Amino acid sequence: MRIARIATAGQTRFAKLEGARALFLDRAPWLGGAPAGEAAEIREEDLRCPVEPTKIVCVGRNYAAHAAELGNQVPKYPLWFMKPPSALIGPGDSVVLPPESQRVEHEAELAVVIGERARHVPAERALEHVFGYAIACDVTARDLQKTDGQWTRAKGFDTFCPVGPEIVTGIDPRALGVRLSVNGELRQNGNTSQMVFSIATLIAEASRVMTLEPGDLLLTGTPEGVGPLTHGDRVKIEIDGLSALEFGVTAAR
Ligand code: ZN
Repeated sequence: MRIARIATAGQTRFAKLEGARALFLDRAPWLGGAPAGEAAEIREEDLRCPVEPTKIVCVGRNYAAHAAELGNQVPKYPLWFMKPPSALIGPGDSVVLPPESQRVEHEAELAVVIGERARHVPAERALEHVFGYAIACDVTARDLQKTDGQWTRAKGFDTFCPVGPEIVTGIDPRALGVRLSVNGELRQNGNTSQMVFSIATLIAEASRVMTLEPGDLLLTGTPEGVGPLTHGDRVKIEIDGLSALEFGVTAAR
C-alpha cells in the first residue's frame, strides 16, 4: 500500500494511492483512517510531506563507513538525537540554508513510520509496530554540529527534514539500496544492509527510552558520501521500492 498527503480544496488530506488515483482517507491510516468515499487524480505538485509525527527520533553513525568518513567510531549503543516536527518539509519544497552555518550537508536515510504504540518492545516483535517506510533527508549544519557539542541546533532548523513523497507498507527494509544525487551527480550509494543496528533493534532500544506513538518517525542513519548543499541545488534521493524524493536548496532571504 502507498500512502500520501495531498493538498486539495484548501486542506491537506491523507490518501491511499492506487495507480494514477488518490483515494482520500478520513484520517491518518495509523489512526484507523478509512476511505472517505472521494478520489482524485494524483498530481505531483499536490503531494505534501506524508507524515505528521509527534516526534522525529534519529540515530547517528549507524553505518560504519559514514562514521569513519567523519573520523568517528561506531557507537556501542545507538546514538540518539531528535529533530523537531517543525523541521519537516515535503517533496518539491526547499531546504533553507541558515546564515548561522557555512556548511550544511545532506544525509539520505530510510525513515520508519510507527504504526502501533511501542513501549519496551523486544526486538523480535519490534517490526509489528511499523506502519511503513519513507525516504528522508537528515539535513545537518556540520560546522554547528562540531562547535555546539550537542546536535539540536545543527539538526533542528526549519526545513532540515525533507520526507516523502509517500509511505510504502509491506516491504522488507533489510537490504534496500539508498542513493542520493545533487544536480544529477551521485553522492551517496549505500544499502540498508550496512546498518550497524538493525531497524528492529533501533525500535526496541528507542522504545526503552521514549514511547513511540503511531505516526512517529524514526530516521535510521545515513550511508557514506555526505556532502555540502548550496543555493540552487536540486537533491534527489532514491530508495529501492519507494518513489524518489526530490527537493531544492535555497539561501535564507
Ligand atoms: Zn543522520
